[in-house]
Amino acid sequence: MHAPDAPLLPNFLAGRWQRGIGPGQTLFDPVLGAPLVRVDNTGLDLAEGFAFAREQGGAALRALRYRERAALLAEVVKVLQTNRDAYDDIATRNSGTVKNDSAVDIDGGIFTLSHYARLGEALGDATCLLDGERIRMGKDPLFQTQHVLNPTRGVALFINAFNFPGWGLWEKAAPALLSGVPVIVKPATATAWLTQRMVEDVVRAGVLPAGALSVICGASAGLMDALQPFDVVSFTGSADTARLIRSHPAVAQRSVRCNIEADSLNSALLDPAVTEGSEAFDLLVKEVVREMTVKSGQKCTAIRRVFVPRALYAATAQAIGAKLAKTTVGNPRNEATRMGALVSREQFDNVVAGIAKLKTEAEVLYDGSAAGLVDADPVVAACVAPVLLGTPDPVGAKVLHEIEVFGPVATLMPYDSEAQAYELVRRGEGSLVASVYSNDPAFIARAVAELADSHGRVHAISPDVATSHTGHGNVMPMSLHGGPGRAGGGEELGGLRALGFYHRRTAVQASSAALDALAATGVPFRP
Ligand code: NAP
Repeated sequence: MHAPDAPLLPNFLAGRWQRGIGPGQTLFDPVLGAPLVRVDNTGLDLAEGFAFAREQGGAALRALRYRERAALLAEVVKVLQTNRDAYDDIATRNSGTVKNDSAVDIDGGIFTLSHYARLGEALGDATCLLDGERIRMGKDPLFQTQHVLNPTRGVALFINAFNFPGWGLWEKAAPALLSGVPVIVKPATATAWLTQRMVEDVVRAGVLPAGALSVICGASAGLMDALQPFDVVSFTGSADTARLIRSHPAVAQRSVRCNIEADSLNSALLDPAVTEGSEAFDLLVKEVVREMTVKSGQKCTAIRRVFVPRALYAATAQAIGAKLAKTTVGNPRNEATRMGALVSREQFDNVVAGIAKLKTEAEVLYDGSAAGLVDADPVVAACVAPVLLGTPDPVGAKVLHEIEVFGPVATLMPYDSEAQAYELVRRGEGSLVASVYSNDPAFIARAVAELADSHGRVHAISPDVATSHTGHGNVMPMSLHGGPGRAGGGEELGGLRALGFYHRRTAVQASSAALDALAATGVPFRP
């Protein structure tokens, strides 16, 4: 469906606003089905735009100290806070999210920027990062090695997913800009409006140097071709597109550094010693329900597989189902709605098809669709009610460990021994996060030893942190985000660790006097 009368959003590239000359793609309200805006980048001179960012934006950013770039991030925070109401409105209309879910995206982005502004301030007036101590290489103590990290003299291209148009931009842009690397963002088309609007507000406020921040909306054709050896690309999206990015000549031949965040079948694991109705049991139930319903399950970190001792299978299904029954689904503008829509009717079709695939190996333990939608037409709205599936035979299952259904869907699976539980969790072949629920620190330590290598994050929930833990699916800027294997093998955030992606490490072998002079320009890198 195309709506040629919907307003066309301009791109910002080469320091100027530019509209595509093609018909563009229309963005829709996923609840009402109404056309909203169009995006298009046909006819844009990408080579010119990338060169402008690389040369003008990069030079201007690198001329600043970490502290000064951190101050820029703080200015961006102010701009976003000033315009927050507009973002909320766009999120309701284009992402179909209730206010709390929109906040995860909008305020999550602002919080992450603020965090990096604080971290950057502490790096002071340095212009490079000193990695480790000096190392003697022979008998002569005067000739030593110092590893040093300098910002790459390229652009950072972000190709983002549809589920976090706000946070997805800023969680990557904050460490990039703090590093001194200009950003070009290509948001996923379905929800590009919020990203475009945030960039527009920051550009119009004039807080960043020319070329530091650009936005290209619409088709992805030609973006990877524009990359040169010192550029970096950070991709978030499906494993299929990730394969194309990885095999593109920019990465395969020109060694463009590449970070991939892709599909993930995250797990929740209950300690075998936990009993029904105990605090740890209740914490698992609460977290699973939250993860299934926040942003309608459209979070890369959402719990997809739930592992409990076999004796608790029925009780867990019953407890999760009882809580899910309180989730009203429908139009986010209606106060009675707790969970809004998926981002598009296309995603609706994908989720319905995904549930059908999972059902070939699982039974339905809870299905909220009988309750109907609040204030929304089921023929038009991209609303899916929460569905809890389950199988008594997780060992024999295949697709349940392979297919990520990007919606309010999870599968409950019983295990027969602790060793089998770890084996089943690992069948996800690398995930962003596993959460474990237990009263027992020794069990948590064992679970970490078994699961850490296949997970970017292990989130342990015990009764003593019931009110203070940050949530299975919440990505905190101080902790690493990313996962091995199926999850893409990427690493983001983790405080100052994120700066590593945007810097090049060099071994400087020189005299003590030369290294003293170098050290005066740097600050120890202590992530
Ligand atoms: P997608 O179809 O792979 O799209 C992701 C991005 O890639 C979009 O901006 C898309 O643009 C662009 N793209 C599509 N084809 C491309 C190509 N040939 N070359 C370059 N770019 C291309 O993924 P999605 O369906 O939007 O995202 C959902 C997936 O993202 C889920 O599977 C989820 O697990 C994953 N995800 C992971 C994380 C994480 O941090 N690990 C976070 C969020 C989501 P268009 O929109 O214009 O097609």
